[in-house]
Amino acid sequence: MTYFHTAQSSMPVLVVGAGPVGLTLAAELTRHCVPCRIIDKAAPRPIVESRAVGVHTRTLETFERLGVLQTALEQGRIARGASFYGDGQQLVHLRLDELDVPYPFSLLLEQGKTERLLVEHLASQGLTVERPVELIALTQEGDRVHATLRHEDGRIEEVTTAYLVGCDGAHSIVRHLIGVSFPGHPHVGQYALADVDVEWDRIWPDDQIHTFLRPEGLLILGRLPSGVWRIVVTLPDDQARIEDKQAILALIKHQLTYHPDAGIRELHTPLWISTFHISSRVVEHMRYGRVFLAGDAAHIHSPESGQGMNAGMQDATNLAWKLALHVRGLGGEALLDSYHAERHPIVVEIVRTTELVERLLELKQPLAAKVRNATLSLAWHVDAIERQMRNAFAANTYNYRHSPLVGEHTQSLFEWWYAIANTEPYPSAGDRFDFSHGPTAGDRAPDARNIVTQDGQLHRLFEIWGNEARHHLLVFAGLKEQPQRLEELRQIVAFMQSRYGTLIQCHLVLSQQGNNEQFSLWDSTGELSRRYGAQFECLYLVRPDGYVGFRSQPAQLQPLEAFLVGLLGKSVELTLN
Ligand SMILES: Cc1cc2nc3c(=O)[nH]c(=O)nc-3n(C[C@H](O)[C@H](O)[C@H](O)COP(=O)(O)OP(=O)(O)OC[C@H]3O[C@@H](n4cnc5c(N)ncnc54)[C@H](O)[C@@H]3O)c2cc1C
Repeated sequence: MTYFHTAQSSMPVLVVGAGPVGLTLAAELTRHCVPCRIIDKAAPRPIVESRAVGVHTRTLETFERLGVLQTALEQGRIARGASFYGDGQQLVHLRLDELDVPYPFSLLLEQGKTERLLVEHLASQGLTVERPVELIALTQEGDRVHATLRHEDGRIEEVTTAYLVGCDGAHSIVRHLIGVSFPGHPHVGQYALADVDVEWDRIWPDDQIHTFLRPEGLLILGRLPSGVWRIVVTLPDDQARIEDKQAILALIKHQLTYHPDAGIRELHTPLWISTFHISSRVVEHMRYGRVFLAGDAAHIHSPESGQGMNAGMQDATNLAWKLALHVRGLGGEALLDSYHAERHPIVVEIVRTTELVERLLELKQPLAAKVRNATLSLAWHVDAIERQMRNAFAANTYNYRHSPLVGEHTQSLFEWWYAIANTEPYPSAGDRFDFSHGPTAGDRAPDARNIVTQDGQLHRLFEIWGNEARHHLLVFAGLKEQPQRLEELRQIVAFMQSRYGTLIQCHLVLSQQGNNEQFSLWDSTGELSRRYGAQFECLYLVRPDGYVGFRSQPAQLQPLEAFLVGLLGKSVELTLN
């Protein structure tokens, strides 16, 4: 056995696994200028292995921040809706194009292509995925993690790193090496899938995902960017595991006989065929000292909700900026703990909801299936329920409101009385109501259009933020700008920029055209203020992962600074002065 000691023993982060989650994490860390290594024991996944094909809206927002959105859109196919059919009729149609987000659709993109575009992006940033390099051992000691890697030629490399993130999939060796169990249910269901050319007896819109519900099993259809159709069927409970491709295809064809209304006459030239069992499991913690688990290494569930890969990529987005602050010596244990505190309840909820949806969609008792169909059909006609279903389908319902890491400040009764007594501006009941309809601390920060920047051009908010890895501070002057108060708000922005500029990008949002002053944005149509409930002055601190970390009405410096001290730890004074 050859021993080789790395020259890069002080690498801050080692990412184990270059699936979609590890690649997203490495890309996010790179965006935050955190040096890292990413290793994978296997060759790149063949493009033809489509696997997770639905890229949802928040992942697309992550892609925009990383600068890979355009490539993804060019390579993918847009699904503008999702329909569910039963008893020979359409039960539900979810209009994804009515989602109130910048990318109101699901992007169908083969997982192999998603991975390839992230690998290429990393290469453009000077980071190469090291493969085949396998993690075979790890130990933690004080503030270090020692990892043992095996290279293709048998060399063994000992690496010391500050943080190690296991993105190494459902059979995670990282999870195994740190002795963590993976509680849940084994083999909840078995699926067969094929990416094939289809001979149709009828025409289906190919910008939709179609799901057919029958007591004998489920059928899901969607057209992939390559032009072939992705067909997924559930298999009978007593179906033995088979590997032979022809046998799987025959099985799929047999299952299709239960779905004559799908109008599939014949299947041809399969690009990829597979069966798979998916268990339903979640780890109890996602952080163990300086080792973190993300993606399938931490949670797995049935693909029926189409959220496995997306949820894992959101883990990565959540973790990266926290590691980045820690690497800079900012933020205490609470910051790292918040990864588990924020992500774990969400993945537990995803797994629980997926199990429920799976049970509901796969009802085998004909009478129960009829009742379900009738209920779904009725519920769909209720606007609020349809909106909720649409957002849930697109994984657009999750937030971090429960997080110990977010906060907000509104005027207390005493402060309100004091403001009145001193003829200072104070929010009316209407202003408070308006603010209560803006995003709460922990919510995803919404995008807005028609914002004029210093160059005099119109931009979307997310474009202005671009791939900037800092927090963003939006100080809204409100609709009734008063010269004296405006001057004070300018001073808040200037102070924050000078003191925290390396961590926070600051903007003063004006409702009237200003004179192109530094840091100002002109909300030319009022959309930005409307979306943030900012008819009265207020401020929002948006985190690098696109969620509101803190907000206050009125816009006050003191509560904001108190929040930042909590977030960044005591060291902030030393680091930034
Ligand atoms: C057949 C199939 C169909 C699927 N369909 C869907 C779908 O329609 N929708 C959906 O959302 N999800 C689907 N999934 C699930 C989806 O593919 C996963 O959720 C997603 O791949 C998880 O990404 P990940 O990066 O966490 O893990 P993985 O993609 O599993 O990546 C883990 C990586 O870690 C590497 N690795 C493992 N051990 C080591 C080690 N010791 N050292 C170094 N590297 C290591 C592996 O080689 C691998 O590249 C499907 C999965 C399968 C198998």
